[in-house]
Amino acid sequence: MRWPILALLLVLVPSVASAQFTYDPPGQLVPGSGTGRADDTVYVPGMRYPIEVAPSYPNSQVWGVGGSQGPSGGQCDERNYSYPWQDNYCESRQWDMPLCPSGNGHQGQDIRPSTCADVTHWAVAAEDGQITSIGSYSVNLMTASGTRHRYLHLDAGTLAVSEGQSVSRGDRIGLVSNEFGGTPTTYHLHYDILQFSQEAGASVYVPTYMSLVRSYEELIDQPVMPCAVVPAGGGIVDDYGPCFTAYGNPQFWREETSDEANDTRFHWTNGFENATPSNWARWRLFFEEAGRYRVEFNVVSTRAVSKIVPYTVKHGTDESDFIVDQSAVDGWHVLGEFDFVADNNVAQYVDVFDNTGDSASDQHITADAIRLTRLDGANNDMGGTPDMGANNVNNANNVNNVNNANNVNNANNGNGGDGDGEVSTSSGCCATVTNEPRMPPFAIVALLLGVIVLRRRRN
Ligand SMILES: [Zn+2]
Repeated sequence: MRWPILALLLVLVPSVASAQFTYDPPGQLVPGSGTGRADDTVYVPGMRYPIEVAPSYPNSQVWGVGGSQGPSGGQCDERNYSYPWQDNYCESRQWDMPLCPSGNGHQGQDIRPSTCADVTHWAVAAEDGQITSIGSYSVNLMTASGTRHRYLHLDAGTLAVSEGQSVSRGDRIGLVSNEFGGTPTTYHLHYDILQFSQEAGASVYVPTYMSLVRSYEELIDQPVMPCAVVPAGGGIVDDYGPCFTAYGNPQFWREETSDEANDTRFHWTNGFENATPSNWARWRLFFEEAGRYRVEFNVVSTRAVSKIVPYTVKHGTDESDFIVDQSAVDGWHVLGEFDFVADNNVAQYVDVFDNTGDSASDQHITADAIRLTRLDGANNDMGGTPDMGANNVNNANNVNNVNNANNVNNANNGNGGDGDGEVSTSSGCCATVTNEPRMPPFAIVALLLGVIVLRRRRN
């Protein structure tokens, strides 16, 4: 009687194991198919995976089973429809690809849907945007931030979008097929991302792989693991803690020490003029308790030069944008007061961007720590602000870990900031609320006036 059970287990174990999502590292191409770029950057954080349902299998078409350079077999071979994923962004092609080691590559990633079936599986919008052009086998989706998502080989006869149409993240675009303007390709979506790159000094095809990995993890509901949890009374999220990520080419993120920095170290980079950021940073926020919190950022005066630094706060499902004069403030500064939710699956964060609009050189911006202070509920008198910096990661959940240097009693020094995202002109607060990302003209005027007021006070 035991044998059938054992046999069943032997059959089940391998299939369960192969269903577990795994991926080869970014930059690891099929041997012989070119030299990849090992790049962990998520160039489109928060994007939707471009195929509607899982499973799905990004891998090589040309070097995969049945491909012209691959092992013999058909394109529907089960080896093509299994994990691990494989990067093919820099796979050998003639396209100009400045971010690939050879200078040439494949532009994007080839993605197979769940099964080897034609005109069955939907490709969907990775972000909100507009369909800017449709070719014989291409669909371009442009976002407000200047990122272009491109979809190739969809079935031309069943497209769900038309030129000029606005789409929302997750909207259906078309069905995966093998359209290639004549000679068909395999059943797959070629997906690529065109974005301004400071490293290349132009809009180029950027690596797609880790954006796909992150969005796929969300699609298959791999539980979101908090990097650290802000205790009920509040806490500090440091740039050397687990919840901070500096995006863009690391060589343009400088790291220095300063007595003014929280945990002694901080990041800085240069503000510049462009529609999309090149270097930017995110402090991710996870909360033990939902509630209203004051959000402050720490500025290190030695490198705080730009007067027009864009910040975004994502609180719950809402987003608030600010333009901040970093040159006018030292130390902790109020960005606003916001209601946050205690749901790990809702992305909440503070972002700072380098596309300030500054045209002069050396318009430095700093990125150090974010401080959250609870304003409502029973826990707003905890008396301490635990520091979730590099040295306190293990204590992130421990409200007793009071960091006296950052005591809540100091939180109100030098700034007011009452009301949701409100500017407090009486306290030297320089955050200007904007309803649009970046710099609408009225914000520039308001900011200049604010700077003049601040300067006069200092004289
Ligand atoms: Zn392709």
